[in-house]
Amino acid sequence: MADKRDYYEVLGVGKSASDSEIKSAYRKLAKKYHPDANPGDKEAEAKFKEASEAYAVLSDADKRRQYDQFGHAAFEGGAGGGGFDFSGMDMGDIFGDIFGDFFGGGRSRSRANNGPMKGQNIRIGVRITFQEACFGVDKEINITLKDECTSCHGTGAKAGTTPETCSKCNGKGQVVFTQQSLFGVVRNVQTCPDCRGTGKIIKEHCPDCHGTGYISSKKNIAVSIPAGIDNGQCVRIRDKGEPGVNGGPRGDLLVEVVVSNDPIFRRQDMDIYSTVPITFAQAALGGDIRVKTIDGEVINTIKPGTQTDTRVRLRGKGVPSLRNKQVRGDHYVTLVVQVPTKMTGEQKELLKAFDEAMYGKEEEREDSTEDAGTSKGKKKGFKKKK
Ligand SMILES: [Zn+2]
Ligand SMILES: [Zn+2]
Repeated sequence: MADKRDYYEVLGVGKSASDSEIKSAYRKLAKKYHPDANPGDKEAEAKFKEASEAYAVLSDADKRRQYDQFGHAAFEGGAGGGGFDFSGMDMGDIFGDIFGDFFGGGRSRSRANNGPMKGQNIRIGVRITFQEACFGVDKEINITLKDECTSCHGTGAKAGTTPETCSKCNGKGQVVFTQQSLFGVVRNVQTCPDCRGTGKIIKEHCPDCHGTGYISSKKNIAVSIPAGIDNGQCVRIRDKGEPGVNGGPRGDLLVEVVVSNDPIFRRQDMDIYSTVPITFAQAALGGDIRVKTIDGEVINTIKPGTQTDTRVRLRGKGVPSLRNKQVRGDHYVTLVVQVPTKMTGEQKELLKAFDEAMYGKEEEREDSTEDAGTSKGKKKGFKKKK
């Protein structure tokens, strides 16, 4: 008998690995070596078998304890020939558990098919302006909604006929089939292929809904978008989604808000940011300037000697809180001093005269900057080549 590898080594986990570590290690190996994914590959088949055996033992608390104590000897003499005895185990359970969500999809989920299920949610986008996001807005949305067909009451069968119980699954909606596998017989549960899980077979389809049981129609739905909503947030409207299944409630309509960019305002959470140009004279002398806010224009008084990029805070002029619209963020205004680019001759002369009155004649300035360095603050920074 060939030496068997240690089960922990096979799964690539430590002796103290938790159940979930063991499970996830097996998941990875099983996915990699599963015979379905490696048809005809004997080595993969052997690896898959080895991993499954290790998992079967280590995932069972009793067996794991025996194995920890006695090693492979704990299970020898079971099925004979050194093989592991799987006969006492329900591998179908292990597969349902492990493979349920990645082989074949709905295998384990199909169990809920016969009970009432809530319908799917519908997601739709709606574009609003910056101002509408700040103060809220009522919109009407046009969407196509499915409703139960009134002719057949959702059964999909022609009037006067009734759907028949599916003979393949006897109305259960799922079929159990057994499969001969490497370990013996494996039981699998699958959605019935004949009735696709409904348990019913329709012989004559309802002409109004073509057997679907639903009629689609355009609906106008009023949406009240609350003040303070931000880009990407959703308004939920209950019971305006897809119809439920087997008497379950309808899904919801989720209206996702897309806020258009504003030419003036930018937003971060509840605060608003904007920039306002001011002239050099306004900056130097101070005074009242007009500032646009989401409430309209306000007058803001700036201090004499205001530097460019000064930020002013307008308290309570930001975006209202979604929870309480009495609470509002702030509006931050960045004041940017404008440098004139086009000037008349007269304006240039005036500006030169001002400059000289302020800093002295240009020739004198150049003399002083050569040796004075930073000694005289008001003369720094003027170094013009002639
Ligand atoms: Zn119908
Ligand atoms: Zn069926």
